[in-house]
Amino acid sequence: MRRAVLSSPTTIVWEELPTPAPGPGEVVVKIRAALTCGTDLKTYRRGHPKLAFGPFGHEASGDVAAVGEGVRSVRPGEAVMWVQTAPCGTCSRCAAGDENLCEHLAEEMALGAYADHLVLPAKVVERNLFAKPQSLGYIEAAFLEPFACVVHGWNVLRRTDTRQPLPPKVAIIGAGVIGLLHLVLARHNNIEATVFARHEARLGLATKFGAARTVVADFDSLPVELAGSFPAVIECAGSAQSWQEAVRLAAPGGRVLAFSGLPSGTHVPLDATRLHYDELTIAGSFHFTRDDVREARDLLVTGVVPARELITEVLPLSSLEEAFSRLDRRQGYKYALIPEPEPATWI
Ligand SMILES: [Zn+2]
Ligand SMILES: [Zn+2]
Repeated sequence: MRRAVLSSPTTIVWEELPTPAPGPGEVVVKIRAALTCGTDLKTYRRGHPKLAFGPFGHEASGDVAAVGEGVRSVRPGEAVMWVQTAPCGTCSRCAAGDENLCEHLAEEMALGAYADHLVLPAKVVERNLFAKPQSLGYIEAAFLEPFACVVHGWNVLRRTDTRQPLPPKVAIIGAGVIGLLHLVLARHNNIEATVFARHEARLGLATKFGAARTVVADFDSLPVELAGSFPAVIECAGSAQSWQEAVRLAAPGGRVLAFSGLPSGTHVPLDATRLHYDELTIAGSFHFTRDDVREARDLLVTGVVPARELITEVLPLSSLEEAFSRLDRRQGYKYALIPEPEPATWI
């Protein structure tokens, strides 16, 4: 089998390996579709605070090729979807209900989806592996991971205001795939959404997905007249400036979801007067719990995610370097990779 390895920033090398055999509790999957993701791009460009260089790619779906001893939940030949991690279930953070912050989250991850086959560790098999319904395409099913992150963000947002868990309107900063997934969920909940994008080209999709208003703006300085006018702001543009702008957009009593991760060591100066006197709530959002994953799966199955419109192009797996060099040059947003010999078409 082929497997792509990120050996250092912007360097992808291909390994040739024997097809793996599953250990006890493990499942070997034949990858049918793998997606590029902002996290992979970050790692590709500069490394990642939580992920080492090595086999990469984590958004995928496929068919079970072999199951290890003791696995009864799936069978060879079955189409499946999963997320790359699972909580341990026993550490103090898991016990507190914060499975997304599990101390052992980064141990035994299913990384290396840019490959012909992938081994799913036993804890992923046990906790975060699902049958893929036939109604859901392989590429659509591979959206489970990013969508689970977005669903988690909304569950965090709900917790920040027990009196009114869902805001009547929301500002979304950033119209990349994640921003658009937030928009999809906002509209699913009938929430009026304003989307801020750097480029005009993205606003057509935002409008199509139901944004009430779209604004092209430099994230360093969003329109002054909109300051303080949103009861909830979701920041998914990924810069210290956009975090600050998110706080500026929040209405008194409002909440800000800091969804995008910034490079290690980044400090963001915030307006203390606004934070205190306008009683703003700023909440971080990271990863997902098992419940978030199940909620995301149930929503995916209803067809709420317009996957086809979020994928820039379907490419053969051997074009992985091309996909990342395009993303690095800001060409396109999300690519689907299909391992040959299957044709690189929508599946
Ligand atoms: Zn991802
Ligand atoms: Zn844990």
